[in-house]
Amino acid sequence: MIEEELKPYQIIRSDRKTLAVLIDAFGRVVVRAPKRMSEERIFSFLRKKRAWILKHKARGIGKDITLPSENLDGFTFYLIGRWTTIRLYPGEKICFQSGFDGANDIVYLPQRDSRKRLVKWLKENAERIFSEAAERWARRMGISYPSLKITATKKCWASCMPDNALNFSFRLLYAPKETIEYVVVHELSHIFEKNHSKAFWAVVERYLPDYKKRREWLKLNRAVLQIF
Ligand SMILES: [Zn+2]
Repeated sequence: MIEEELKPYQIIRSDRKTLAVLIDAFGRVVVRAPKRMSEERIFSFLRKKRAWILKHKARGIGKDITLPSENLDGFTFYLIGRWTTIRLYPGEKICFQSGFDGANDIVYLPQRDSRKRLVKWLKENAERIFSEAAERWARRMGISYPSLKITATKKCWASCMPDNALNFSFRLLYAPKETIEYVVVHELSHIFEKNHSKAFWAVVERYLPDYKKRREWLKLNRAVLQIF
């Protein structure tokens, strides 16, 4: 199913007359389409472009990426598997509003120092989410780790230090939940095996039999490490 292969994708309809497709920095397929064109026609167009789309999706940053501009208002990104749109407002607090019926979630962000505050907020959320997941999996795997740190590195998703201290980039929040769980299990598995040997992958597979599928997203979407 092309719809599945293309995920995450977004169809933006406007007054234009033709179809166009690009891959943005989230590895998201963005389709621009005329207002009244049927989904069937859109997907038949995408099916024809399948090879090109998958190639560019896999390559990550290309010439068609949409990195957030200086003004973050309206910027939409993928946050733990949900489309999330930033709205700047004159207040002082960050407010999060869940979208219902397929609508995007919204982050209301103070206008002042918006980028700095957003990163701080993402890090706080990452800390809560990764700590919860790591504690839960460590219990299940019968192991423990000395500490867990949220980093802002753009070079890798996560790491496990020689002393079993865990590091996670807050940008992992851009990944779907299943992928986040995979990264947590991956790093915890390094407590058993400090390498990527067969024995290591056997540990990962024991806890997450479908890890290969969960891992795919990280390979396709490395470009999002550049955002914020
Ligand atoms: Zn590893």
